[in-house]
Amino acid sequence: MAFFKCTLGLLALLVLSDCSWAEDKDLSVSELLWRANKDVVHTEVEPFVMDDVAYDNESERNADPCTSGSCMWAKSADGKVYVPYVIATHYSSRERSLIERGLLSFHDVSCIRFVQRTGQRGYLSIQSSNGCYSYVGRRGYPQTVSLDRQGCLYHSTVQHELLHALGFNHEQCRSDRDQHIRILWENIQSGWEYAFDKINTLNLNTPYDYNSVMQYHRYAFSGNNKPTMVPIPNANVEFGTANQMSKNDISRLNKLYKC
Ligand SMILES: [Zn+2]
Repeated sequence: MAFFKCTLGLLALLVLSDCSWAEDKDLSVSELLWRANKDVVHTEVEPFVMDDVAYDNESERNADPCTSGSCMWAKSADGKVYVPYVIATHYSSRERSLIERGLLSFHDVSCIRFVQRTGQRGYLSIQSSNGCYSYVGRRGYPQTVSLDRQGCLYHSTVQHELLHALGFNHEQCRSDRDQHIRILWENIQSGWEYAFDKINTLNLNTPYDYNSVMQYHRYAFSGNNKPTMVPIPNANVEFGTANQMSKNDISRLNKLYKC
């Protein structure tokens, strides 16, 4: 009987732990980012970070250097865009392979090729720092992509941060967003309004995409449990629930880099 009870208990435990894992996986990318970043305190050696975007200093944040094309990764003669990276040794082999799966997911669908660094000056330094964040676009020096072991190691968050590093901003910050979503400023938690700043983005003739892995969800940064964004014209359309790159994310990546 004791054995039976124990086996049952063990089974219940397995089922429970499996469920919580499944729930995590089902969370949208912005829910995962929020959970990982909301209480993070950055150290002095880290870049200036707002939400999950890194900057060299505070005054830089309104200018998107990518719109002038200066933060693109260079294209090689063979038509591929090689992006060097280093993955910090503090990750376990399981964590490392999850990150590598994220890197590889770009290879099948674009001309981006993440390659292990062999002495290049500019590269992605992928490490578990405090929270999930990345610079937008190429910086020309070792640039941190922080994928915190606590909360950032999901396929969606890896793809999201890599898209930042390749030059993409959040979907809700697109220059044409006011035609597609209405920002409910009164519901945004005080101090987080900047996360909804509109940016003069290059939209590459791709449509606004509610299913982009760069689109936050309806309640992102809500201070009162009411929506901070509603779609236009149909307020009930689902959005911000992506857990991987959408067709549009892929299409605009190919357009930006002329793959
Ligand atoms: Zn982001």
